[in-house]
Amino acid sequence: MTGADELRKRREQEALRIRTALNRQRGEQRANTKGGEGTVAFVEERKCIGCDQCTIVCDDDAIELYHVDVRSPLMTVESNRKAKIVRDACTGCRLCVLACPTDAITMIDR
Ligand code: SF4
Ligand code: SF4
Repeated sequence: MTGADELRKRREQEALRIRTALNRQRGEQRANTKGGEGTVAFVEERKCIGCDQCTIVCDDDAIELYHVDVRSPLMTVESNRKAKIVRDACTGCRLCVLACPTDAITMIDR
């Protein structure tokens, strides 16, 4: 029978394996995403779920959330938000691209 210690050890090993795989994926995504002064982040509104992750990672206050009305008459939600980029403040660091869970942000030429 598997003991509690054994289970804990397996759980820690699995967590490490997942963390390593995710970090590798982020590293590849970062390497494949263009960035720098000549670029600026762009949010595809349709994909944005207003989760606020991008504003947390952006050190340059270059992302703002704004309210939009929900289009569906079937749903009532108090707040439906979307992110938008403050172009002048964006340094092209790409952090928001890596943080966005829905791939709503891409880097475009300035
Ligand atoms: S690329 Fe960097 S500076 Fe620009 S909006 Fe994203 S996190 Fe902020
Ligand atoms: S992280 Fe992505 S989905 Fe979340 S608010 Fe920012 S752009 Fe929208």
